[in-house]
Amino acid sequence: MSRTEVVTLPVVGRRAVNAHLLLGRHPIIVDAGTPGSGRRITEQVAAHGVDPGDVRLIVVTHGHLDHFGSAAELRRLTGAPIAAHAADLGPYRSGRGRLPYLPTGPMGRVMARNGKLHEPAEPFEPDIVLHGETDVSDFGVDGRIIPTPGHTAGSVSLLTDDGDLVAGDLIANSFLGLVPGRPANPPFHDDPLANLASLRAMLALKPARLHVGHGTPLDPARVGRWARSEQRRLDRRAARGRLRSRPRDSGGETAPAPAGSATSSPASSAAGEEG
Ligand SMILES: [Zn+2]
Ligand SMILES: [Zn+2]
Repeated sequence: MSRTEVVTLPVVGRRAVNAHLLLGRHPIIVDAGTPGSGRRITEQVAAHGVDPGDVRLIVVTHGHLDHFGSAAELRRLTGAPIAAHAADLGPYRSGRGRLPYLPTGPMGRVMARNGKLHEPAEPFEPDIVLHGETDVSDFGVDGRIIPTPGHTAGSVSLLTDDGDLVAGDLIANSFLGLVPGRPANPPFHDDPLANLASLRAMLALKPARLHVGHGTPLDPARVGRWARSEQRRLDRRAARGRLRSRPRDSGGETAPAPAGSATSSPASSAAGEEG
């Protein structure tokens, strides 16, 4: 078994939005950045001594534009197939994220008003549609893709046999990396409790390093402490009927705001998530 090195590829700013390059027996790219960043990604791949044409696989962690925005372009530039989960096929096929975005706090509420979030990306059809755990050793990296639903229904993470967890938006750095090293929710989660359950399940696998879409790599022990306090916070919110989540089967891009779960009300959705 060869050691796989995980390299961060900044797509926006220094660490605001990241893709990752996994250097195993063959290279794999995880995530494809915002629309129009294919060249920025392949230039960095080349700067690490990898011919972009040698990339064996592009893994898209979930159906948000800052992660799949350049997937189609990156496939053209590398010739590599795209693997992505079935439950986010709607966004991939439409080039648009599912609306409305459900903010996790003040930052998400500000960002939800940002028109850029709603500019469409080039749609694509994944070459490999993921349903369950998927071994990627045939593509050159000893490891597996694991479904980690919650942030979106089709979110996945990649765990290498060396203990590197490339986790997309399962967890982020405070303010998209402005406070590096401090765990925080990304601006949006479709289902905060499901996401936290996925995060805790991944931590139970004892990853050595945790690489994220927004910010610097995080210390798993620190994320574990954060997850325990976040669990208490979410449980309190749920008990007060103030936790929103997207109903499981409202996959449509034009689905109305979820009024549905017994624990949410229009008032709570407007009033916000902090507390
Ligand atoms: Zn996301
Ligand atoms: Zn993101």
